[in-house]
This record gives sequence, C-alpha cells and structure tokens, in this order.
Amino acid sequence: MRVVIVGGGFGGVRAALNLANLPNFDVVLVSKQPYFEYHSALYRSATGRSPLEVAISLTDFFAKDNNITVVQDEIIHFDPQKKLVAGFAQAVYHYDVLILAVGVVTQYFGIKGLADFSHSVNTLKEALSLKSALHKDLLSSHHSERNYVVIGGGATGVELSTELVGYLKHIRRRHNVKTKFNVDLIEASPRLLSSLPTDFTDKIEQRVKRLGVRAHLNTGVKSETVDEIELPRGEIKSHTVMWTAGVTNNPLFAKYPKVFQLGKGGKVIVDQYLETQPGIYVLGDSAATEYSGMAQTAVYDANFVTSNLKRTLNHQSRLSYQPKKPIYAIPTGPHWAAVLWGNVKIYGYAGWVLRRLADLRLYLSFLPLAKALTAWRAGFIIEETCSICKK
Ligand SMILES: Cc1cc2nc3c(=O)[nH]c(=O)nc-3n(C[C@H](O)[C@H](O)[C@H](O)COP(=O)(O)OP(=O)(O)OC[C@H]3O[C@@H](n4cnc5c(N)ncnc54)[C@H](O)[C@@H]3O)c2cc1C
Repeated sequence: MRVVIVGGGFGGVRAALNLANLPNFDVVLVSKQPYFEYHSALYRSATGRSPLEVAISLTDFFAKDNNITVVQDEIIHFDPQKKLVAGFAQAVYHYDVLILAVGVVTQYFGIKGLADFSHSVNTLKEALSLKSALHKDLLSSHHSERNYVVIGGGATGVELSTELVGYLKHIRRRHNVKTKFNVDLIEASPRLLSSLPTDFTDKIEQRVKRLGVRAHLNTGVKSETVDEIELPRGEIKSHTVMWTAGVTNNPLFAKYPKVFQLGKGGKVIVDQYLETQPGIYVLGDSAATEYSGMAQTAVYDANFVTSNLKRTLNHQSRLSYQPKKPIYAIPTGPHWAAVLWGNVKIYGYAGWVLRRLADLRLYLSFLPLAKALTAWRAGFIIEETCSICKK
C-alpha cells in the first residue's frame, strides 16, 4: 500500500513512524521544511533557550527505516481522481492512501496593522526573530520605560508573557541597562484560558499577576500601528507586540471545496475514520475533532488512522474514532506550571517537573534515546547570539 503523508509535524511524523519497517507499506512523507518543530517549546526559544529542542531534522526520525522516503516539498495541488498530490517543480506523488497533517496558519481576523507590525510565535523562525527584536528594543531604547504586549490569553500567551518577564530582566542585568519595562497580556474574553475550568485558570491568573504581568481581560484589540496598539479604553505605546490569539486552517483545503467540507475555524469535517473520501484522511490541527489544536490530539489521531490501515490490511473491520481528552500543562513563569489531568489539578514546581517529564516522554516516543535526550536537555541550555547575554 502506497501511503503519502503530507506534513512533517506531530501527526505526520507519528503516522510515518507507526508504518516504519512494515513490509506492506511504502511511505512517502512530504513536508515543506526539512525539520519537525516541537511547538510547545517555542516560547522558550523566544526567551533565550536553545532552538535545538524545537527543530529536529526529519531524517533523524527515520534513519533506519527502509520503507519511508522523506521529501522536502510543499504540496500545492491535489487530484483525488488521479490519486495524486503535486508539489513545486511539478513533482508528483501518487498514493493509495493520503494522510493530510498540514497544521494551521496564523490568522489576524482582519485587525488592522497586526499582520504588518506584530510578531507571531508559531514557528521557530518567528520565535527567533522575536527574541532578536526584544533584545534590540530593550537595548536601543532611549526611553526610561518600554511596553511589551502579548495578545491572547490562551496557553501560548500565558507561557510567553510570564517567561518574558524573567528574560527581559536577564537582558537588562547582562547589559547593565536600567530601562523599566511592562509586560501586558491582552485577552478578549473575561478570563485567561477560558475553555478550561475556572478554579484552574484562577490559579494561573494569580500567578500571572504575581509575576508582574498586567492582564487586561474583556479587551479586544482594535488596531496596531508601528508604535502603539489600540484598545477599547485607550492605547499602549509599544514596538514589540506579540500575537498569539488566532490561527485558521491550512489554506490548502479551501481550494478543494468538493473534497473538503469546512467547519468552524476552517477545519475539515471528517467522518468516524477521520476520512473525507475513501482513502483520504485528515488529522491533527486541520481536522474538526473535539480536541483538535493540541499536539496530543495530532499524535492520537495518527495512531488511530495507522492502526485502522493495519487492520484493513489484516482483513479486520475498522474502529470508530473516540475523542481523547488531552492533559493540559501550562508553564507560567520559571519552574512553575499548572497541570490539569482529568480532575486532578497540580500547581507549582511539581507541575513544572511533570511538564518537563511529558516533554521527555514525547521525545522518547519519537526519537532514539540519545537524540531524545539531546533535544530534551537543550531546553535547559541558554543559547544567545548576543555575546554579553551568553555569559
Ligand atoms: C506556540 C505553540 C505552542 C503550543 N503548545 C502546545 C502544548 O503545550 N501542548 C500541546 O498539546 N499542543 C501545543 N501546541 C499545539 C500543537 O503544536 C499542534 O496541535 C500540533 O503541532 C498539531 O500537529 P499537526 O501534525 O496537525 O500539525 P503541525 O505539527 O503544525 O505540522 C504541520 C506540518 O505540515 C507542514 N506543511 C504545512 N503545509 C504543507 C504543505 N502544503 N505541503 C507540505 N507540508 C506542509 C508544516 O511545515 C508542518 O511540518 C502549540 C502550538 C503552538 C503554535
């Protein structure tokens, strides 16, 4: 069976690993970048940790697998009649089964100025560009006070804003500058992480405030210019605004309305096998499943789809998809995390240790031991391009 997997992220890599070295499967993994990105650690790369924990070469996953071919290409065309997808330079990939795990893209909801002036942290490139912007802004400042604004009180906004406080202090200390700064966290809904239980998010909110982050709730951003962000109750002067509040589905799907029916957030509506048509599967962030938007869901989906492919080859009936509730672990500043595991809630250092162990577990499930440990340990290493901050 020739399986073409598009997307070398959580879902795509997991699906390919599950089919590795199985004689009945011939797998081509096509991804537009040559490395996998561990998104959960992007906020750390933006605030001084080594990018080696985020970017892992796709070939590191499949070094010993002889039925997996990894191709760097961006799929731009799709022909379900001919059972093929095509990339740049007219490269064509024929399939019996197609797995689409292409993730999501940043969305600004048409808010004026955001696309031009704000920073995103959805890719490693963006995280490193933000890190350098933070540095430049704090050091080139001729003002006595700077504002750093994070938009979006979801997990990424909370993680980034709280880690930022320590990082900005670090830059200030290393460079011996006295510039004062504020970190503002803007959220449109009445509380942070509004989809999670109130008692859980209350603790996170207290921690956010204790770290000195100014949380503005019930506050929708109106627009951004080069030097300020406009809010309903006035503006905040800032040259460094970070947008973490919106994603939408990969635009690939909207090009083929006959094949992909789109639901909320442009996510693809899938059946009980995560199929849209016989032999075409959509998983992870792109699929309209209950817990879509989490790495754990993408991995779970990949396990589900590949297990059904194996069942089909063994003449067994396929199982139906049952959504699995993820575990939430929200790092909130140094060595502190809030963990929600079913009904169990853990806060503080123990939560942070659990979160780091969960990172390790994920690396170990994807990579050989030595490579998993290297990626995980990189999360403890400060990596600065600035020679002064390095010390
Ligand atoms: C900053 C941030 C922090 C996060 N933190 C957490 C967390 O702590 N816990 C958690 O569970 N989840 C977290 N998530 C969500 C998690 O990263 C996603 O749910 C997960 O990555 C989804 O996996 P996926 O396989 O669907 O897509 P992705 O992992 O995004 O992979 C998509 C892949 O497809 C490739 N691609 C896209 N278009 C094409 C194309 N046309 N042709 C070829 N290749 C293409 C991309 O390059 C990428 O490699 C976070 C996300 C972000 C952005």
